[in-house]
Amino acid sequence: MDYEGYACSGHPDLNSSVKKGRFVIEMIGRGWLVKRVANTTNKEVTRRTNKTVPRMNDPIRIVPLHLPSELYRPSAGIAALPAAQLTYRGGPLLDSVKVFSIFWGQVWQTSPNSDLANQINQFFRFAVSSALIDQLAEYSVPSQPIGHGSFIGTVTITQPTLFHAVTDAAIQKMLQQEIKSNSSIPQADANTLYFIYLPPGTAVVQGGSRSCQAFCGYHDTFGSGIYYAVMPFPNCAGCLGGLTNLDALTTTSSHEFCEAITDPVPGQGWYDDTHGEIGDICAWQTKKMGNYTVQLEWSNRDASCK
Ligand SMILES: [Zn+2]
Repeated sequence: MDYEGYACSGHPDLNSSVKKGRFVIEMIGRGWLVKRVANTTNKEVTRRTNKTVPRMNDPIRIVPLHLPSELYRPSAGIAALPAAQLTYRGGPLLDSVKVFSIFWGQVWQTSPNSDLANQINQFFRFAVSSALIDQLAEYSVPSQPIGHGSFIGTVTITQPTLFHAVTDAAIQKMLQQEIKSNSSIPQADANTLYFIYLPPGTAVVQGGSRSCQAFCGYHDTFGSGIYYAVMPFPNCAGCLGGLTNLDALTTTSSHEFCEAITDPVPGQGWYDDTHGEIGDICAWQTKKMGNYTVQLEWSNRDASCK
């Protein structure tokens, strides 16, 4: 069980987390990793699926902000972290992912945002059967060989109306209700991954942290195995990383896409206790794949981001 984010001194939510367990705070990649250590038991892992467990106890994987290199370069004399090595924790994988995108807010219906939404959907049509998935094959397990997936559709919703911020709880509620009542949205199965895009000007508040202040996206699961990722609009330099809106969103979306495939229940799939999930280790290192900018992902086999 751990909570990752940028360690701001006096962060109220961080403080409440610290009270619940033993934490270390360390500099990793381009951000501070705040880790709860050595107190996860199998019993606790099982309890994560119980709705009465506070959300604060869940490991949530985020895309951290892009920061100038001066801010994340270790000071002289600080020992290097151990090399990353993801290990499999026995949980589900999305072995043939089915991506469905949900664009939330009226602004997605008109240009230029509608064009951006179309381009993101094109990206997923490409990504689900691309080398991005092929490189995840090393994380196959005998009962769940990771293969190509499919893009199963998209929808724009305008209700509920969004304002300056929306909570993760409100996003889950929206998703659950839409799955129940909106015939355009498919029911969740063991491979369905909903990608939820927020409009410009709406931040997401998750675990007491806020997009553009602490993170640029995350993935998680709730209920009886509904897998989802939340992608706030890159309204800030920290979530643009010097890229265009499209390139920033394909970068952060590819990060969450690969993490959701290899660790759909955060911490129960492929995970590294020090470094986190597959995308966290390589955050904001990008490459071109087809026409798209995507993030590098950690390879155990090559011991590098690729
Ligand atoms: Zn991540």
